[in-house]
This record gives sequence, C-alpha cells and structure tokens, in this order.
Amino acid sequence: MRRKFIAGNWKMNKTVPESVQFARDLVSEIETYTHHDILICVPFTALVPVHDVVKGSNVKLGAQNMHYADSGAYTGEISASMLETAGCDYVIIGHSERRQYFGETNEILNKKMLKVVQTALLPIFCVGEVLEQRKAGDTERVVEEQIRTGLQGLSASDLSKVTIAYEPVWAIGTGETATPDQAEEVHKHIRRVIKNLYDENIANTLRIQYGGSVNPSNTVELLQRADIDGALIGGASLKVESFVEMIKIADRL
Ligand code: PEP
Repeated sequence: MRRKFIAGNWKMNKTVPESVQFARDLVSEIETYTHHDILICVPFTALVPVHDVVKGSNVKLGAQNMHYADSGAYTGEISASMLETAGCDYVIIGHSERRQYFGETNEILNKKMLKVVQTALLPIFCVGEVLEQRKAGDTERVVEEQIRTGLQGLSASDLSKVTIAYEPVWAIGTGETATPDQAEEVHKHIRRVIKNLYDENIANTLRIQYGGSVNPSNTVELLQRADIDGALIGGASLKVESFVEMIKIADRL
C-alpha cells in the first residue's frame, strides 16, 4: 500500500517571516491528518527557521534544488550536506523550471540523483513533457528517456528512496491540468518503465506524484486514480487554506 504524499513547492516565494508564519499555521491546522505524508519545499533562506517550527510535527521539510558536488567553487549553489544539516528531509531534483531556465539536462540530473541517494535526503525526481512533445505524441518516449538517463546507475535499494513527480510542463502554473485519464496513463507508463529497469515489486512500491495546476477542486479526481499517489503543488500550496484543504482531501481517500 503506497502512502499518499502531498508536497508544496513554493518556488521563489515567501520571505523568512512569511515562511515561518505559514509553517506555524500549517502545523496547527493539520495535527490530526496523519494518514499520508506532507511536505513543504521552501526557499533556502527559510529552511532553518521553518525546520525549527515543523520539527516533531507531521510536516516534512524539503529544498527545491541541490548541487551534485560535495563542496567547492560553485558560486550560488548548495550541497546535500548543507541541506541535511539545515534540517531537510527531501529535495526536489529536476523540476521543469530548473531544466527550462537553468539548463539542467538529463545527464546533470543523473549526477544529482547519484549524489542524493548517498545521503539521508530523499529525492523527488521530476519528469514531464512540453506541449509540442505531447502534441507530437512523444510524451511516453520523453518521460522514459528522462527516467532512463536520470536514474542511470541507481541500484534497487537507491530506488526505494525515490519519489517520481510526473509534471507535464504545459500544465505547470498555467491553470491547465492534465485530465485524470491523461495523468493516469503516464503514471502507468512510468511504472512500466521502472518495472523494466528494476522489477515489479519496485515499480509497485514507487510513489508517483502528479503535478501541474493541482488545486482543491481537482484533487479528489486526480488522487482517486490507482497510480496517482499524491501531488506536487506549486501555486495552490502558497496559501495555508488551500494547501490544508488538499491535505484534508488526501487524508480522506
Ligand atoms: C510545481 O511547481 O511543481 C507545480 C506543479 O506548479 P503549479 O501547481 O503551480 O502548476
């Protein structure tokens, strides 16, 4: 049985005081919702103060990016050990905005994945096609390539640490959501790819989140699908009320 997993990705939003306030409100609102995993991926500057608020609660803490090197001359970057010692449990790897605006290729992301599984951090590895690729009927090939290259060299036990987020790029921040059928089809494909690369048991235990304009009004129909194990939520995770609403929905399913 895969536990549902609701994650918020704040992107480049919220100052330290705003982040701390959000975390306080969230922790007090969701104390009793314990049937699934809850995560907030906050800006680097807010990691330590938010950790102080969420530690000991059922809210996990994540970062939005990480470098593959241990340390060195990489101005502006952050390492796995920096994230671990800031209190992070999770890190997002390969968000489409990192791929699109910061030139992160499947090969670079593979280096990050190989690094992260050597640490205590749990990665959420993002995959997804752009609109032209979907229109050209290329979705399954693109997602498969992202997974094959991104996860190359990871062992079966490494895979137990990984969550995959399927995020069609055309649905991110656009208000346009993949239909539950479209999402489910790709999630099934991802499970097939993982089964071929590893085995059936690993494919069946892997959690696959959907991301792309998830909000309180489409959460139920998406999360009811057999292969959709949760959501990675951008815009609708920025307000405590809507984030909590989605958490409550996931808890009832
Ligand atoms: C995201 O940031 O991963 C995302 C899916 O954003 P949004 O929910 O705003 O589409």
